[in-house]
Amino acid sequence: MVDDFNPNGRTRHDAVALAMLRVRRFTRFRITPAVYRDPRPVRIGAWPVGGEPVPFADAVRHSFEPFELGREWGRPWDTVWFDVRGEVPADWAPGAAELVVDLGFTGDQPGFQAEATVYRPDGTVVKGIEPLNNWVPLPEPGPFRLLVEAAANPVIQVPYEYEPTHLGDRATAGETPRYRLAEMTVARRDPMVWNLLQDIVTLDGLVDVLPPDGARRAEIVHALERMVDAMDPDDIPGTAQIGRRALAPALAGNAASSSLIVSAVGHAHIDCAWLWPVRETVRKVARTFANVLDLIDRDPDFVFAASSAQQYAWLKDSQPELFERVRAAVAAGRIRPVGGMWVESDTNMPGGEALARQFVLGKRFFAEEFGVETDEVWLPDSFGYTAAMPQIARAAGARYFLTQKPSWNEINAMPHSSFLWEGIDGSRLFTHFPPAETYNSDLGAHDLDRGERLFREKGAARHVLGLFGWGDGGGGPTREMLAVAERKRDLDGSPRVRLGDPNSFFRSAEAELPAPPVWVGEMYLELHRGTLTSQHRGKHGNRHSEALLREAELWATTAAVLRGTPYPYDALEAAWRVVLLQQFHDILPGTSIAWVHQEAERNYERVAADLTALIDARLAALGGGGTTPIAANAGPYSRTGVPGMGIGPVTPPATVRPRRDGDRIVLEDPLLRVEVGRHGALASVVDRVADRELLPAATLGGVLQLLRDTPREWDAWDINEEDQRSGRDLLDPVAVDLVDDAVLVRHEVGATTIEVTVRLVDGVVEYGFRIDWHESQKLLKLAFPLDVRADRATSEIQFGHLHRPIHQNTSWDTARFETVAHRWIQVGEPGYGVAIANDVVYGHDVRNAHAPDGRPMTTVRLSLLRAPRYPDPSADQGSHEFTVSLRPGGVAEAITDGYARHLPPRPTTGTPVAPLIEVSNPAVVVESVKLAEDRCGDVVVRLYEAHGNRSSAMVRTSFGWDRLTTTDLLERPVASDAVRATTPGAAVDLLLRPFELVTLRFHDPRA
Ligand SMILES: [Zn+2]
Repeated sequence: MVDDFNPNGRTRHDAVALAMLRVRRFTRFRITPAVYRDPRPVRIGAWPVGGEPVPFADAVRHSFEPFELGREWGRPWDTVWFDVRGEVPADWAPGAAELVVDLGFTGDQPGFQAEATVYRPDGTVVKGIEPLNNWVPLPEPGPFRLLVEAAANPVIQVPYEYEPTHLGDRATAGETPRYRLAEMTVARRDPMVWNLLQDIVTLDGLVDVLPPDGARRAEIVHALERMVDAMDPDDIPGTAQIGRRALAPALAGNAASSSLIVSAVGHAHIDCAWLWPVRETVRKVARTFANVLDLIDRDPDFVFAASSAQQYAWLKDSQPELFERVRAAVAAGRIRPVGGMWVESDTNMPGGEALARQFVLGKRFFAEEFGVETDEVWLPDSFGYTAAMPQIARAAGARYFLTQKPSWNEINAMPHSSFLWEGIDGSRLFTHFPPAETYNSDLGAHDLDRGERLFREKGAARHVLGLFGWGDGGGGPTREMLAVAERKRDLDGSPRVRLGDPNSFFRSAEAELPAPPVWVGEMYLELHRGTLTSQHRGKHGNRHSEALLREAELWATTAAVLRGTPYPYDALEAAWRVVLLQQFHDILPGTSIAWVHQEAERNYERVAADLTALIDARLAALGGGGTTPIAANAGPYSRTGVPGMGIGPVTPPATVRPRRDGDRIVLEDPLLRVEVGRHGALASVVDRVADRELLPAATLGGVLQLLRDTPREWDAWDINEEDQRSGRDLLDPVAVDLVDDAVLVRHEVGATTIEVTVRLVDGVVEYGFRIDWHESQKLLKLAFPLDVRADRATSEIQFGHLHRPIHQNTSWDTARFETVAHRWIQVGEPGYGVAIANDVVYGHDVRNAHAPDGRPMTTVRLSLLRAPRYPDPSADQGSHEFTVSLRPGGVAEAITDGYARHLPPRPTTGTPVAPLIEVSNPAVVVESVKLAEDRCGDVVVRLYEAHGNRSSAMVRTSFGWDRLTTTDLLERPVASDAVRATTPGAAVDLLLRPFELVTLRFHDPRA
């Protein structure tokens, strides 16, 4: 309902505007209040929990103090249980009675303020209560009792949307009640008046979008006016039927034969955490599913799609009775699990194996709990999409991809709505962007009209997806949305709306586009570029958890296969679940309230402790109790004498001690000569083998830059390019010292201290950073101007790498001013380049430029730290530690360094252990070694071609197996031509295409 038809002057001389002013006023002030009548009070008792939520069984045992309407309730994040008792008069029509609740709602959209779960006295859930969906059915006449679990979730987004808030942390949120209970009454709903209101809403919306001079619009306005004429303002219930009759002809006309077909799928985008903590999402999921189950009973065609296995798992744990009803609805096809991932994760930052596990754990849950397999990827809201996704999704059995987020691009509009998306290895997914550009549609005329205008394939295709239902904070579809959908099945002036399911939509859309357009590579989001850097400790936790999980699985597998040590399936799965949850698209990107990020950091610490203990135990078992110092190398390549994925004695690299040479400090080994100047930056880096200086003339390397970071909006989300015009180089350290084998540079900037150690280890310049960060709205970058003439940057992504142009020829190139790389980035000329690796950085920018002497150069910058103020005013404050390395090299060296940053040989004792797996070609990289998900004891090895070439490799094994299958990510057999030959128990001969991902399953002969 649009009721803000501008009356300020616009209506004059405009008969339609005048008419609509009258219609809307009549609707708002006469018809809407008449939907409910005969309100009756209820008796209310209240029990404030005064802490974290408690289960129903605990709450119901408490005594409830009498409570009245109009009273304040709800300290921030507290829960108040209301005990509600009333009576439904026996003479009311069956189904008419409802409990109407206003918790003190402050805005329109549900999910960002108070909300409640309603229980029967037996503990079963009835429904959620939210703004715009604030009723509870009272089907039985006579006395009733309900328990209302009201969550005082504070509004985080006022008064100004990006104002720092103390409300995002329980410790700082204060004790002031946030709400006043405004209404809790029994009333009867008049279905005739309600249906009249839905008729009006349906037609009214069309007035705003139809051609102003067209006959159809005039017909609708005329009908609405006749409706007002025909009704008695003092007897709405008595004249509602007459009003509906007046509107009937305007609702009877058919849609044009050319109209789009909107597959309307019920949905509720529920962020696993954002402006609320994870624990609140657990309750949001229950409220939303309860709402959905109520609607399913009311409309036989309604289908609801919900992603995120994690959210179903929460429901199973927290509300088992509701979960069983969901399970039944899934079996009946009414609720469709979609997406197949554990959560709707970010896709820029999770590592390859983690993104694979999103599907493995998600799809396994759906298969085990519901017996369903999803064939689409469902990521409507993540901040850009990795070019690795098509291959990973295909390997998980998916065929389709859904998002709408690219519609948020600041500069360039994506050219297609339905198309094939091709990844780095050539895999393709049929992809659809719902052209209404929202996942929170109400199926109103504005959304449908936008969808028609923006659907890029119109003419060639007619099927579009419409996702309707309140989202972000959950809530889901409402009966009003279903009423609109029903009226728009075949309505003149509107696209045709068909309630449907995502899979049927994708099949129809795919079938009608025999030669779809193709988008190749990443789907970069031209917005939210700061999410690669915000909440740095969380990113550190993610990156190091991923590395620890690799280590833990590798050594657990090795110990299981060689020593019979039980494989810790449950502990590993528990760790994965935490890591996968925290890759959610508002946690890992750093865009949630303080509560969420503090909790995430604690969880990462716990995961690290658990996995480290697990690794230590396996290494002790493998070492056999000996005392000889050795080391375990979990990386794929041999290092300091220890073979990749093996355990053995270390041959440490020669220590390079720095020495003073005039006002410079020199580090030198047979490969590199490095000079650090008084300013603490690199003054020279000479590749002694190639006899080549890496730094352009009169240019410093490894320079810290402190830049302004005051985005226009979206503080934690965005970096604005214009801010990078303002900043300074940190070239005035308080100390530059020689410490043993390192140069120690110390900067003090206000309250912030930055300690940088520079070492030279085996031809690699290694940086260690220790930062105590107390900045506000600043961005810290590390800049390496390089004397190479590169035309592109090569960045590691999941299971491969991506080339991106570094010029600014087009608006697309210009907009891509901050990009993601994982463990390394590389720039170069044919035959010569520089590799920069890191152990936490995701945000990079690379540009071609000119040195002071006028010669071309390439500048690589790493985004190290930010300090946004919203939604977490304490974001990034405090201590940070991480490493960066630099050396001459191509992709092969970059990959080696990337793994080296994360998987240093782990000291242990005992006797050496040969690797389970050895690969003859460094281009073929083992990313994961584990035991099979089905716990039968088979060894699963995931490898990928990492150089972007066709690569062959001999994989030698040192454990017993009698049969090999190539599998998908779910470890089910799939045909593959990657395996050329096998020698059971000994070797596999592989030939991989560029970036090809292969999962090998070695069958345990004992199984
Ligand atoms: Zn979201």
